[in-house]
Amino acid sequence: MTDPRESELLASVPTGLLINGAWREAVGGRTVAVNDPATGDVIREIADASVDDGIAAMNAAADAFPSWAATPARERAEILRRAFDLLQERTEDVALLMTLEMGKPLAEARGEVAYGGEFLRWFSEITAHTQGRYGANPEGTGHMIVTHHPVGPCYLITPWNFPLAMATRKIAPALAAGCTVVIKPATLTPLTTMFFAQILQDAGLPAGVVNVITTTDTGPVSERIISDPRLRKLSFTGSNPVGVKLLQQAAPSVLRTSMELGGNAPFVVFDDADLDKAVEGAMLAKFRNMGQACTAANRFIVHRSIVGEFTRRVTERVRSMKVGRGTEEGVQIGPLIDDRAVVKARTLVEDAVERGAVVTAGGAGMDGPGTFFQPTVIADVQPGSDILREEIFGPVLAIIPFDDEDDAVRLANDTEYGLVSYVFTESIVRGQRMIDRLETGMMGLNVGVVSNAAAPFGGWKQSGLGREGGDEGIHEYLQTKYTLTASPLPA
Ligand code: NAD
Repeated sequence: MTDPRESELLASVPTGLLINGAWREAVGGRTVAVNDPATGDVIREIADASVDDGIAAMNAAADAFPSWAATPARERAEILRRAFDLLQERTEDVALLMTLEMGKPLAEARGEVAYGGEFLRWFSEITAHTQGRYGANPEGTGHMIVTHHPVGPCYLITPWNFPLAMATRKIAPALAAGCTVVIKPATLTPLTTMFFAQILQDAGLPAGVVNVITTTDTGPVSERIISDPRLRKLSFTGSNPVGVKLLQQAAPSVLRTSMELGGNAPFVVFDDADLDKAVEGAMLAKFRNMGQACTAANRFIVHRSIVGEFTRRVTERVRSMKVGRGTEEGVQIGPLIDDRAVVKARTLVEDAVERGAVVTAGGAGMDGPGTFFQPTVIADVQPGSDILREEIFGPVLAIIPFDDEDDAVRLANDTEYGLVSYVFTESIVRGQRMIDRLETGMMGLNVGVVSNAAAPFGGWKQSGLGREGGDEGIHEYLQTKYTLTASPLPA
């Protein structure tokens, strides 16, 4: 590591486990390396927790729960708001850290700080406004009082692709609701979460309310925490196979769960679309985060009459994209997270080409160091190709033509996922029909990015359970109590 600013920043990141307000080593002093995917270099060693460390974190979250739950909403809100302000002040540090451990271009990392920070501000704003209700029962014989209560200690598991936003999207509503947490970031990108956890401490969060563990023994450590009878909630963002395994582990104790899982987003361009807007939207929906987003457009379903022009325009844009280390000026495509991601992108492109698709831009990995894959466009993808079924999670834009609206709807809904769909049309009537017809938890109508802290983020079908963000987000961490009073209350 030669850049002094990078070295200084990395040296300032806490690398232990945060348990009960103190950073400490893992039992036995075990550590694991974190790499820069653009160079392959080790950038820090972090603590590698054992099952005992996981139990210690669980103990801290359980012990801190009663007093945090009893802390007035306004006080909780003010800590979240202070954390929001501190995050803004430290934007450049957090963004650079994210780029170093995850690879995304610095401009996108700054965008993630803005987006991720919004969850702190949003939930600081709504915590004091989240009320129950009171009213006479329909028979007029009593009154019904509905109140909300924090569910209790929570276990939060986050993926590597949005190291800050996936953490704040869970931590902020949990804290706003009065819950305490143990969070386990992905071992590939733990530094941002650790840095952010220190920001929460600096904002005045009491000890034990947020505990951070990082581990390569993910299965055993998580299983032990999930089976702890004091745990009341599991919130997971990641892949479907892991999500299913966690749901099975949560079943015996009927643990409340939120699952943000995979996507296979259709991006439908009708013949009445504004093509400039559609191309702009396509570049964002596909290439943000190098395509490594659950909301990334996976299948570009384009009307046959404009598919040639659409392909020509996106091909031109993609061929001119700058690929490189995310810290370099003007870079639009950084490295993929690891070798497996490169192999996956290459295998999906090869399968599509064998079945008749045509590569019009990119199409291959790049020489090392670093795990790069060229931004790619493939046209005329044939039915049955793996790329239409699997989540690509890479910078590959795959195009299939359609003939009429029914055809487009059938293709768009032909997946077990249902996270997000993008539709481009200038017809308000058609847009409205698509809202009704697409099986999707979220929809972008003439826009290529939908994420917003004030909106309920989440999927239909196998894309998950529950919502993050919006008014709905806090209720994932609250439980409802209804009380009937035997007689009318005094006026
Ligand atoms: P992953 O499932 O491999 O890992 C996610 C997290 O789960 C990591 O922290 C990992 O360490 C942990 N994990 C792995 N095995 C575990 C086990 N046995 N027990 C407990 N925890 C375990 O997913 P990933 O590769 O990090 O992320 C990519 C996936 O996440 C994609 O499928 C993507 O669509 C999905 N994702 C979904 C959303 C959403 O909001 N729907 C957002 C971002 C990513």
